[in-house]
Amino acid sequence: MLAYSRVAIIGMGLIGSSLARAIRARLPTVRLTVSDASPEVRARVAALDLADDVADGAGAAVIDAELVILAVPVGAMAAVARDIAADLAPGAVVSDVGSVKARVLADLTDALPGVIVIPAHPVAGTEKSGPDAGFASLFADRWCILTPPPQVDAWQVTRLGDFWTAVGARVEVMDAHHHDRVLAVTSHLPHLIAYSIVGTASDLEAVTQSEVIKYSAGGFRDFTRIAASDPVMWRDVFLANREAVLELLGRFTEDLVALQRAIRWSDGETLEALFTRTRAIRRSIIDQGQDTEEPDFGRKH
Ligand code: NAP
Repeated sequence: MLAYSRVAIIGMGLIGSSLARAIRARLPTVRLTVSDASPEVRARVAALDLADDVADGAGAAVIDAELVILAVPVGAMAAVARDIAADLAPGAVVSDVGSVKARVLADLTDALPGVIVIPAHPVAGTEKSGPDAGFASLFADRWCILTPPPQVDAWQVTRLGDFWTAVGARVEVMDAHHHDRVLAVTSHLPHLIAYSIVGTASDLEAVTQSEVIKYSAGGFRDFTRIAASDPVMWRDVFLANREAVLELLGRFTEDLVALQRAIRWSDGETLEALFTRTRAIRRSIIDQGQDTEEPDFGRKH
């Protein structure tokens, strides 16, 4: 299988810079050119020596790349794709790391007619943003989901999958719409709930802000980690995955009302049955190596 020898990354925040570090660490022969809209980010990336070249513009960065990866917020994908269209080398593969896939597939396909587009989503991240937040092992043992359109040759999909495997990820191929429904459950709704709970707690009048913070180890602080995630990135995720999130939110609201009823009617059996089931889900996540077994996420006490 043909490995890529020249790769370009556009967008050097948490994910782009982590990928650059992983390429540096695990694929040292790859020639890596990167760019970012922000001059401060470009300067920081150059200072951190994360790439062979830091180009001023996206077009200049992609000029001879065999693989171009867009690591910008989902809402910026279309504009970046239009920006690079005229500069892409013949046969170049354009991919991305966006958290929503059907919208990005449509945006990239529209902006890049005749170009090989294979969207991807590494299901790995933190609540931090920017090039200093990245680290080389971010993708190790995490899933990277590829959502190729049907017309793309299978060997091109395998080639991109091999690239992600080389930087440490496990690879899965999925339909873009299916991806969006799965991620609505595992990522988008949990983020929405966290944003909402943290917002509600900070609006309460009966409990002071300082009490919320002081006693946060009771559970609240685990929501605050998720609710500290990048506002622009998450704004774009909800706008781009509207249907799947709204459908799931309807279901979640019903389940929440059922719990409300169980509490009102002192129905301990219903509560205990649910809490027992959810504890088993936590066990499966640990068994599959997707989190640490250490109590309290391994925090030092
Ligand atoms: P980030 O740390 O905020 O980085 C995004 C970078 O892209 C910023 O430096 C931003 O510059 C730059 N950018 C924005 N618009 C651009 C444009 N038009 N052209 C060039 N650069 C542009 O965000 P991130 O967490 O790395 O997220 C990047 C992508 O990865 C998103 O699509 C997100 O959905 C996906 N993703 C994120 C996670 C996660 O946990 N964070 C996980 C998996 C996938 P400015 O700061 O100047 O705007």
